[in-house]
Order: sequence, then structure tokens, then C-alpha cells
Amino acid sequence: MSASAKLPAFDPADPLGLDDLLSEEDRAVRAAVRDWTTRRVAPHIAEWYENGELPGIRELARELGDLGALGMSLTGYGCAGASAVQYGLACLELEAADSGIRSLVSVQGSLAMYAIHRFGSEEQKRHWLPRMAAGEVIGCFGLTEPDHGSDPAGMRTHARRDGGDWVLDGRKMWITNGSVAGVAVVWARTEDGIRGFLVPAGTPGFSAPEIRHKWSLRASVTSELVLDDVRLPAEAVLPEVTGLRGPLSCLSHARYGIVWGAMGAARSCFESAVEYARTREQFGRPIGGFQLTQAKLADMAVELHKGILLAHHLGRRMDAGRLRPEQVSFGKLNNVREAIEICRTARTILGANGISLEYPVMRHATNLESVLTYEGTVEMHQLVLGKALTGLDAFR
Ligand SMILES: Cc1cc2nc3c(=O)[nH]c(=O)nc-3n(C[C@H](O)[C@H](O)[C@H](O)COP(=O)(O)OP(=O)(O)OC[C@H]3O[C@@H](n4cnc5c(N)ncnc54)[C@H](O)[C@@H]3O)c2cc1C
Repeated sequence: MSASAKLPAFDPADPLGLDDLLSEEDRAVRAAVRDWTTRRVAPHIAEWYENGELPGIRELARELGDLGALGMSLTGYGCAGASAVQYGLACLELEAADSGIRSLVSVQGSLAMYAIHRFGSEEQKRHWLPRMAAGEVIGCFGLTEPDHGSDPAGMRTHARRDGGDWVLDGRKMWITNGSVAGVAVVWARTEDGIRGFLVPAGTPGFSAPEIRHKWSLRASVTSELVLDDVRLPAEAVLPEVTGLRGPLSCLSHARYGIVWGAMGAARSCFESAVEYARTREQFGRPIGGFQLTQAKLADMAVELHKGILLAHHLGRRMDAGRLRPEQVSFGKLNNVREAIEICRTARTILGANGISLEYPVMRHATNLESVLTYEGTVEMHQLVLGKALTGLDAFR
């Protein structure tokens, strides 16, 4: 028998054999999330997207809670305590369905729950986390303001002491899950520096009007947060952090999920393009038989699986407690940028059908325009890496 006879068969769905890196448990997590998205999201997502809504979001959140997907890599308080790699695999499967679904999970787990888990008091953790892990309470994370996005240090939202209470005033903008959230993690300037506050929905002076007319992340709730003289008790502040380090460390966790998630959107587009190229005939043959189409598919496959390999590498570093924020920037910058290119190339392979909601490619491509911007724009991650490479700060 020749040596090559022992080689495993080439798998077009896993050309690099990356599944070899996964444990049985990893595969089981991935299969469970894929099964859920196939049943609960795939049949409806085009309609939700077209209508610009995410109907039944509370029911979806509870099901995601049952799946263990909310605050998945956190421990205790009803959280699944999964590995970073497993959390990443879940993000990939969720975003293969739609970036809006992955955003719901990222904001809940990596931003709102993570902030409480890492910086909250024991009482805050006990009060909020079990219900958030179960999807009974949805959380949001308010950092961005109308005039302060990439540079949150300039935020205007402020909190002042009034006796034992805090009083918050300000506006937050582009807040995922805002209008459906039972609790908002709001970052505000205080005389001691930036602090995080837990604002329960229904607190007088607090409202979260939904932002409509988006052409991206249409199956996701995005809102403004309005805070007019919102009075909170002393124990509403997250006690364990002061300064931008608080929100930035939450963002680093969420960005890690995006490194994987973006490859899910890319995989969905790639699969669509391969299927289409095999069956669509022009000039008497399937378009997949033309060299120019094959060049596109080969390049897409290379970037897709390199991206998954990169995500896996970062996941292992996170599990080992060795993942640096600059490395997360590396992953987010590369994977979202490549994912959007894969989606746009898939769009060209599908020709006119590429713009139709009957296929997922245009939906993913427009979603990724938001993913490219939120959690740090391309330029912010270039600047993070540029500073790390040169030692020179080019942010201002
Ligand atoms: C759908 C969606 C959901 C979101 N969800 C949330 C959420 O849940 N919570 C939250 O807090 N925020 C959220 N955001 C906001 C998001 O994080 C911000 O949009 C992002 O940080 C960029 O801020 P900005 O839009 O104000 O752009 P700006 O900061 O105004 O930037 C505009 C452009 O200028 C560039 N730029 C800025 N500074 C520099 C510089 N020094 N050098 C070079 N270029 C520069 C940027 O890279 C960008 O290209 C969401 C956004 C979207 C679209």
C-alpha cells in the first residue's frame, strides 16, 4: 500500500482538516447550535430581514439560554462554563445563520453579562446573571454616543452623586438589544472617571427608542438610549472598575466572538457560491467549470479556512489565558475584512440572483458592513496594531 493511500480523503467542506483540532465535546456544541439555527432561524431569516424585525426575540433568547449559548464561556451563576473555542464555534454557527442572531448573543454574553461577571458585586451577579444566562432577561451595553464612537473617552453621558443615589444624564446611540433589554449596562463619566451602571428597564427617565431604516443588521434590534435624570441607588454602579479599561475589556471579549462569527457569514456565502457555480449554466456549461470562477472559489476557500484557523489559534490562546488585545485586533481586522470580500465575491458568482433575498449572500454582505464598523472599526484595529508594531501612537 502506498503512503498516499493512507491519507484521509479531501473534504471540500474542511479542506485543511481543521476538524481534527476539535474534541468530541467541541463538535457536539457545534452540532447543537447548527441544529438550532437550521430549525429556528434559517426558515424565517429572509422574511425577518426583509421586514426589518426580529419577531419572537424573547422566545429566541430563552431558547438560546436553554442551548447554553448566553454567557457561554462564563462560569457559575447558571452559565455554561464552555471553553473559548466552543464559544467561538457557537458564534460561527450563529453568524452563518445571520449576523443579527450572533449580535444578540454577543451583546448578551460578551458585553452585558461579561461586564457584570467581571466587574459586578456578588449581589449584582446573583441578581442578574442566572436570568440572563437563561434568556429570561436580555441585556444591552451602552458605550457609543451620537458624537463619540471610536473615541469613547470623550463621552458626555455623566453620573453625579446625589446623597446616596446616582443621577445619570445623556444619550447612547446604536445600542444592540436596547429596546428589548431588561437591563442596560451604561458607561458614564463621573468625577472619579468612567464607571459602569446597571439601569433596569422601566427606571423613570430611561427610554430606548428603536432605530429604524437600517440597511444592515435588519434582523437585529438597534436602539438609542435616553437618560434624563435617571436616579439609581448607590448599588447600581459596577464596583470593580473605574476608567475605560472596563468597557474596553468587555469589547475585547466580544471581538473575539466576531473573529469566529465573521467566518460563519463567509462560509454561508461560500457554500451558496459553490452550489450555484455547479448548477448554473452559461455558454453551454456550468459556470463553476470556467477558470475565472474556480480562481474566485479557490481564493475564497483559502481565506475562509485561514480565517477559521486563525480564530482557532486565538481561541486556544484565550483558553490558556494568553490572548492579548492586540491579537484580538489582528483577528477582527483580518477575519471581518476577508469575510466581506468573500461575500462580495460570492455575490458576483450568483450574478443577478446575488442581490436577491432568496440567497443569503447580499444579506450577509450588508450585515458585515456593520460588523466591519462595530466593536472597533477597521481603522481602529489598524491603529492598535500599528502602535504595537512601532511603539508610536497614531490615534490622535
Ligand atoms: C448595527 C450596529 C450595532 C451597534 N451596537 C452597539 C452596541 O451594542 N453598543 C455600543 O456601545 N455601540 C454599538 N455600535 C456602535 C459602534 O461601536 C460604533 O458605530 C463604532 O465604534 C464606530 O463609531 P462611529 O459610528 O461613531 O464612527 P466614528 O468614530 O465617527 O468613525 C467614522 C470613521 O472615521 C474613522 N476614524 C475615527 N477616528 C480615526 C482616527 N484616529 N484615524 C483614522 N480614522 C479614524 C473610523 O474608523 C470610521 O471609518 C453599533 C453600531 C452598529 C452599526
